[in-house]
Amino acid sequence: MNYADLPTTDLEQLETTLTEAYSAFKSAGLNLDLTRGKPAADQLDLANELDGILKGFYLLQDGTDVRNYGGLLGIPEARQLGAEMLDCRTEHIMVGGNSSLNLMHTYVDFMLQSTWRTEADSPIKFLCPVPGYDRHFTICEHFGIEMIPVDLSNTGPDMDQVEKLVSEDPMIKGIWCVPKYSNPGGETYSAETVKRFARLAKQAGNNFRIIWDNAYAVHHLADQHDPLLSLMVEAEHQKNEDSVVIFGSTSKVTFAGAGISFIGLSPSNLSAFEKYMATSTIGFDKVNQLRHVRFLKDAEGVAAHMEKHRALIAPKFKAVLDALDSELGDTGIANWSKPRGGYFISLNTRPGLAGKIVQLAGEIGVKLTPAGATYPYGLDPKDENIRIAPTYPTTSSLKQAVEVLITCIKLASVRQLLGNDHE
Ligand code: PLP
Repeated sequence: MNYADLPTTDLEQLETTLTEAYSAFKSAGLNLDLTRGKPAADQLDLANELDGILKGFYLLQDGTDVRNYGGLLGIPEARQLGAEMLDCRTEHIMVGGNSSLNLMHTYVDFMLQSTWRTEADSPIKFLCPVPGYDRHFTICEHFGIEMIPVDLSNTGPDMDQVEKLVSEDPMIKGIWCVPKYSNPGGETYSAETVKRFARLAKQAGNNFRIIWDNAYAVHHLADQHDPLLSLMVEAEHQKNEDSVVIFGSTSKVTFAGAGISFIGLSPSNLSAFEKYMATSTIGFDKVNQLRHVRFLKDAEGVAAHMEKHRALIAPKFKAVLDALDSELGDTGIANWSKPRGGYFISLNTRPGLAGKIVQLAGEIGVKLTPAGATYPYGLDPKDENIRIAPTYPTTSSLKQAVEVLITCIKLASVRQLLGNDHE
C-alpha cells in the first residue's frame, strides 16, 4: 500500500493510530541509542586475548626491543599486516596509534603546511562524495577547507562530475573516499571507478590527494565479498602513486579504542611524512603493534577473526532490514541500503522529513545520528538521509528502537501527505 495513493480518510485514520502508538512509546520511557557505529562488548571480547599475549617476549626477529624508543614507521611485521589489509606493499605503510582519523587529521595538516597553503592565497577545497562520514567533514571544517558535495552511486562517486570539477579548479586539493562498504551507504567502488581515480591526478592541480579511507576493507556481512581493485597498484601503472593516501585501522577488528592504524603512501610521500611526524613523536606504540601481529598474524588470521564479528553483527543488520522491509516495504515513504559489509544502513525518507523524524524519535527516547550529519556542514539539501548504526545495541533494544523509528517515519510521512507537517 503506497501511502501517496491512499485517500485522505485512510490517511487520517492512519494518523490517529500512529499518534496513539507514538504516545504509547512515549510513556514507556525508552532510552535507546542508534547513533555511533561502535562495536558491542561481545565483539570487543573476541580480542581479549591481546591482553597478555606477549608473555614477556618483547624482542623482534631482528633484535629490536619493542619497549624502547624508535621505529617511527612501525615494526616490519605490523607494516606487513597493514599492507595486506589495505592492498598495498609493506614499503608504503607507516603504522600509527589507535586512530586512523588522527592520522588523517595530521596528514591534512601536513599537506596544508608543506604545500597547499603555500601555492596560493585562495581557499583550499575538497570534494566530498555524499552521503559520507561526518568526521571527514569535521576535519575540513576545522582547517577551513571548503567542501564541495559530489553524488555517490552504487559504483562510487560520479566520476564525470569529479573529473570536471578537478580539471576546472586547481584549488581542489583532495577528495574523501570510503571505497569499500562506504559509511553510511555501504557502496563499494567499481573497477572502472578505481581506474578513473588512478588517472585523476593528471587532470587535477598540483599535489592533489585522493584520501582513500579503507576503514571497512575486511568488514564483510555477506558470503560473497565485494571486490575492490588496489588503488595504489592502479595509480602506479599511471605513475600517479603520489596522489594516493590510504588509511585503515584495526579499530573495528580488535579494540576500537586500543587498536593500531595505518597510512599508505608512495615511498617519496612516506619519506616526507615521516620527517614531519618526527617533529612530534619518536614513534608510536610498538608493544601494541607486536600484540596485534601475534594475535591477528596475517590476512588469513584477520579474515578468520572478522568471520566471528560477522556472526555477531550480521543478525543485527538482518533484524533492522527485516523490520524495514515488512513495515515500510510497499509504502513508498522510505528506501534504504542493504549493505554487504561495513557498519551502517543508510535510509532515505520523503524529502524534508529526516530532521523531523530524528526529532520525533528523540522526544520518545530513541537517539539517532543528527539529520544532515552525513553531509558537509551538516546540510542535507533534501533533508532526507538518516544513518542507522545497528552494531552497538543489544538485538532486543535494536528491534525496539527500529520499531520506534518506523513509527516516526510513518507518522511524519502521513502528516506531510495530509499537509499537517507542522505538528
Ligand atoms: N573512517 C571511517 C569511514 C569510519 O566510519 C570510522 C569510524 O566510524 C573511522 C574512519 C574511524 O577510524 P579510527 O577508529 O581508526 O579512527
